Amino acid sequence: MATKLLLTFAICRLIVTVGLTLDPTELLLLGVDAQLSVDPTDVKAASLDFGLLTGAQPPLAVMHPASSQDVAQLVKAAYGSNFGFTVSARGHGHSINGQAQTANGVVVQMSGSIGGSGVASGRKPPYPRLWPQERFVDVWGGELWIDVLRSTLQHGLAPKSWTDYLYLSVGGTLSNAGISGQAFNHGPQISNVHELDVVTGKGELLTCSEEQNSEMFHAVLGGLGQFGIITRARISLEPAPQRVRWIRVLYSNFSTFTRDQEYLISLHEQPASQKFDYVEGFVIVDEGLINNWRSSFFSPHNPVKISSLEPNGGVLYCLEIAKNYHESTASTIDQEVESLLKKLNFIPASVFTTDMPYVDFLDRVHKAELKLRSKGLWEVPHPWLNLFVPKSKIADFDKGVFKGILGNKTSGPILIYPMNKNKWDHRSSAVTPDEDVFYLVALLRSALDNGEETHSLEYLTNQNRQILRFCDEAGITVKQYLPHYTTHQEWVDHFGNKWDRFYRLKMEFDPRHILASGQQIFTPTN
Ligand code: FAD
Repeated sequence: MATKLLLTFAICRLIVTVGLTLDPTELLLLGVDAQLSVDPTDVKAASLDFGLLTGAQPPLAVMHPASSQDVAQLVKAAYGSNFGFTVSARGHGHSINGQAQTANGVVVQMSGSIGGSGVASGRKPPYPRLWPQERFVDVWGGELWIDVLRSTLQHGLAPKSWTDYLYLSVGGTLSNAGISGQAFNHGPQISNVHELDVVTGKGELLTCSEEQNSEMFHAVLGGLGQFGIITRARISLEPAPQRVRWIRVLYSNFSTFTRDQEYLISLHEQPASQKFDYVEGFVIVDEGLINNWRSSFFSPHNPVKISSLEPNGGVLYCLEIAKNYHESTASTIDQEVESLLKKLNFIPASVFTTDMPYVDFLDRVHKAELKLRSKGLWEVPHPWLNLFVPKSKIADFDKGVFKGILGNKTSGPILIYPMNKNKWDHRSSAVTPDEDVFYLVALLRSALDNGEETHSLEYLTNQNRQILRFCDEAGITVKQYLPHYTTHQEWVDHFGNKWDRFYRLKMEFDPRHILASGQQIFTPTN
């Protein structure tokens, strides 16, 4: 009874907001009332994201699905209704610019439970289901990667390609790409999926793969949630390593740094023993950081005088590499690492090594999260800027941005690592620069209200604009990763020669523009 009342309330809000008349029985006939919630806690949680940039966008209601069919019923109702309301899947809400939000519709809370009736009532999505012989696992679209890892490890298996942080949903990262230091070798996460179940914008539930509904399959991967809601993904697995040797080395010269990074990713076809499993890197531009850069990661037995490093233009570069191994092969790991390090030209005194269980390595960012949370520094605005920069222009980017615009000040880590384009399936919706090798540059900033101008949200947002303008004027054809645009033309330019297909498939699979309207690519039609 209470649920019905809440639902009626949600319907009334829909009517008022959309401004059209509607027979309330229309929504009451949805048959999804058991999972629809207008509980203020649910609505508030679904109205925010990690970026905290957009202000709260409260949805009209939140749905906690327990099956693909629940999702299909809701979207079918939205598609068939006279007044039209939007439906946005939300994974873990770790977007920056409101991509999983919708003010005029229903948020489908795919991950976990924010007090949702579905989970509370014992109705849970049916996965994971592991296929050890075939080496894949079927997971619910809202499953967090940390839980995928935990469940597959029980069988000695693990996914091959990761993100740096595991508290992200499978559907959320597959809607973008899902990248980390393994991408040069295995490709992004979207290159490691065999099959998907997807609810289209018409409320149809389709299974798709390379062989079946293949256009849908490729469109959804990197598709920013525009074509359907992923309710199941079949993820490729490999035997799980047990431990990781994790190494950081420093450079003061940018071209030496990138030459080494590019050399390491060129080894992707080599046997496992002759390449690293993970290649990333980061930029240290802050004077403060340069003087204080030895985090707990670095061995105190291995001090290095920063003044002896002579940072070029005040900037240092840290190459971060890792090698996975099993305890049974531990005897060869030292040799393998040593022979790989011999080929590199880092500053000799700057090798810092640590060794840890595979899970701890993959889950490393969570540790940082807990530290930041304890200082009240996690739930702050995050004006992040993630760019794919073509290899041919990365030196120009270094000069203009790291050694120029940033002015020896940052507000968070700056990641930089190259990837091989041939590991990305060109049929997916993900967009990358038009060169064989391109870099991710991730400016992962946190805005702080501490009176320092260079930490303010306004300052950092302006700097992001300045960086994009600089790239434009310098002819550096970057592509945004986790893109955010507000005009039609910007989206057309972003997708480039993929736009026509993207548009055609949107018209086919979500003709009323019901899904993921928070991306601001298409305007919902009433
Ligand atoms: P949400 O923010 O909930 O949703 C993102 C978009 O996907 C929305 O448009 C939403 O409607 C859509 N969506 C969500 N679920 C589904 C579904 N089941 N089916 C269809 N569409 C869906 N990315 C990387 O690639 N590598 C990293 O190393 C990395 N590290 C990160 C670290 C942190 C701390 C944070 C905050 C983000 C990081 N990201 C990284 C970015 C992250 O991959 C994206 O923001 C991703 O969208 C987050 O997943 P989510 O589950 O929170 O998605």
